[in-house]
Amino acid sequence: MAEAKPEIPVVIVGGGPVGLFLAISLIKKGVKCRVLERRKDPVPDSRSLGIHPVSLELFDELGITLPFLKAGLKIRKGIAFTENKKLGEISFENCPQPHNYILACPQFTTESILRKELHKLDSDALIQKADFQGFEEKDQHVLVNYHQTGDTQQIRCGYLVGCDGKNSQVRREASIHYSGKRYPDTYIMGDFEDTTNFGQDAAVFLPRAGLIECFPLPNGMRRWVVKTDHYIKEPNKELLSSAIKTRIGYDISMAKNTMLSSFGVQHFTAEVFAKGRILLAGDAAHVVSPIGGQGMNLGWLGAWKLSKILSEETPSEAPDAYSKNHKKIVAKVARRAEMNMMLGRASKIPAFKNLFLKFLLRTPLKKKVARLFTMRDLDSFGF
Ligand SMILES: Cc1cc2nc3c(=O)[nH]c(=O)nc-3n(C[C@H](O)[C@H](O)[C@H](O)COP(=O)(O)OP(=O)(O)OC[C@H]3O[C@@H](n4cnc5c(N)ncnc54)[C@H](O)[C@@H]3O)c2cc1C
Repeated sequence: MAEAKPEIPVVIVGGGPVGLFLAISLIKKGVKCRVLERRKDPVPDSRSLGIHPVSLELFDELGITLPFLKAGLKIRKGIAFTENKKLGEISFENCPQPHNYILACPQFTTESILRKELHKLDSDALIQKADFQGFEEKDQHVLVNYHQTGDTQQIRCGYLVGCDGKNSQVRREASIHYSGKRYPDTYIMGDFEDTTNFGQDAAVFLPRAGLIECFPLPNGMRRWVVKTDHYIKEPNKELLSSAIKTRIGYDISMAKNTMLSSFGVQHFTAEVFAKGRILLAGDAAHVVSPIGGQGMNLGWLGAWKLSKILSEETPSEAPDAYSKNHKKIVAKVARRAEMNMMLGRASKIPAFKNLFLKFLLRTPLKKKVARLFTMRDLDSFGF
């Protein structure tokens, strides 16, 4: 085994969006860290899309907003329809400036920008092709073992943070229980050349047969998400475009397509986000339904709190406080993700649902809906 490396205050396992963001936040607050990431390149697919105003304000504090604004696209309005009739719309224009929009930015781009920003701060911070193997927790430090190009390496750190996604090995090694449920809901999604007239607006359709959403993407593309009645292992363009044509009449069959995938939906939460010197953030700590698109942003909010705690001189009590406080936020976001998902389910009597939505989107209540969609309701938790 290679000799132990010099001690570093924090080791993060996982260089996805949350681990990279946490590393930047820590370094900006004067805390050195290392990120162990098994992949060489950012995630190849484009999962998460929406960056919310609360996250953009944190980016402002870190001085990393500009490359996101250059690469992303500002969504200022969302319109809801039945099959073909408009139910109403919500505008984000009246949300607090300067970020009165949701920024559409594919996850590949988000990770690429975060990697570059981290590299600028500390070119040694990201250790690629490093596969976390396990840890030993001591009184004053944690020994972290990982494999890299055939060798076993070890780092001694003050705290170990698992940002290694929903199947987190850090969480498993720490024997932290992860409980929750899988919903019956399933979806297919694909990125297509934008042949609609929606411009920079998002559109949500609630036809009888189930939800269809479409969101503008940078470079003249649009993401389509279609509810299916079972999990489709190998989605194809024809299937997705014919569901859209049958349900809402849009024909995207001739549009260029760059990505297709299927996903199921779940909500899981770790029983604690802090246990001794082991901490969890992002999907390693919580997974919520991606309908409503807030999971990554939720991970960033937690990582931000964590970076504040770990930059304090004596953080010994604080991790438990992080755990309790962030669990409340997760519960709130999970509830509304579940609500969004339920509204998108196929319905035998859609009239009630449509009436309810018209009421929400055509009365002063729509300001509240805009706050929920932009995660502004979490301001009271203080970030
Ligand atoms: C279809 C879909 C759409 C979504 N849309 C949105 C959206 O619009 N907005 C939003 O906020 N969220 C969205 N989400 C959720 C979002 O994708 C996740 O919440 C986010 O990726 C979580 O980031 P993370 O860094 O915690 O974990 P991950 O992205 O899973 O990253 C974990 C990292 O850890 C690495 N890793 C794992 N194990 C090890 C190991 N043993 N050693 C070293 N490295 C390891 C992995 O390689 C990976 O890079 C969506 C999710 C899905 C499925």
